[in-house]
Amino acid sequence: MLEPALLPTPLVDCTDEAFARAGVELRLKRDDLLHPTVPGNKWRKLAPNLAAAAEQGHTRLLTFGGAYSTHLRAVAAAAGALGLESVGLVRGEELADRPRNWSLRAAEAAGMRLEFLTRAEYREATGRAEGEDGTDALLRRWGRCLVLPEGGSNALAAVGAAGIPAELPDLGARDVVCCPVGTGGTLAGIAAGLPAGARALGVAVLRGGEGYLEAEVARLHTDAYGRGFDNWRIDHGHHGGGYGKVPAELAGFAERFERRHGIGLERRYVAKLLAALTDLTRAGAFPRGTRLTAVVTGLPDPE
Ligand SMILES: *Cc1c(COP(=O)(O)O)cnc(C)c1O
Repeated sequence: MLEPALLPTPLVDCTDEAFARAGVELRLKRDDLLHPTVPGNKWRKLAPNLAAAAEQGHTRLLTFGGAYSTHLRAVAAAAGALGLESVGLVRGEELADRPRNWSLRAAEAAGMRLEFLTRAEYREATGRAEGEDGTDALLRRWGRCLVLPEGGSNALAAVGAAGIPAELPDLGARDVVCCPVGTGGTLAGIAAGLPAGARALGVAVLRGGEGYLEAEVARLHTDAYGRGFDNWRIDHGHHGGGYGKVPAELAGFAERFERRHGIGLERRYVAKLLAALTDLTRAGAFPRGTRLTAVVTGLPDPE
């Protein structure tokens, strides 16, 4: 079991003018404080998978990610802490011969073995791994291992993320629990864990996810709970130009928010979420009396 640094994570009121003017309450669920190297939703999603790995006698984890993947770093750190081996299949063969960036260096320092794949190989490997426990080609190459999907979102991950609303007391009809959406596992878990009346709102951080991300969340609900939920939706209007893109306007918003509230904001997910909530609130998307709980899903990058 990967011991959390802090659980339940703090829930703090955040008084901010744009929200106050619209009669909307904003709270921050500080999941960024959950664990120093497996932060936020990465801990929520990995913890039940690691428990299953232990139960099934796995000694090696295998997963996928891009050059700056937080998921890859988190799996490496978790495996290192638990004495498991880990393999990371990285998108981009050209990275193999370059000096490691900070993220890949951290993964290797935690003991992860990295292998660099061409984009085509990567697509093939992640496609194969989907929904399966390390199949044919991967098994032949790496032996018995627990394969975690890209981004870490599977049924167990959703169940782990359902622990977030379970730590929010007295949720009801005025509550909207909000998170960024990369692969959808966090949103799926939050929606599944809400009591009747409360709703979940996800903000897509990638461009062109309409339909695809909704289908992913629905698939995770079916896999984890055997049914669908109708208490959630995804906003697709605030991806800032695409995954990993941080336009100047968003960077400015993040800096001002950090100064006002004395909290460091991870840019690619958390700042996008808070900027989206600010924009939606200004546009009148939430009735007066709404209480928004924004889940701070991760830590700012070290660089
Ligand atoms: C990985 C990550 C996400 C994406 O979560 P999904 O469950 O893949 O939608 C959100 N926020 C942060 C900070 C992350 O690192």
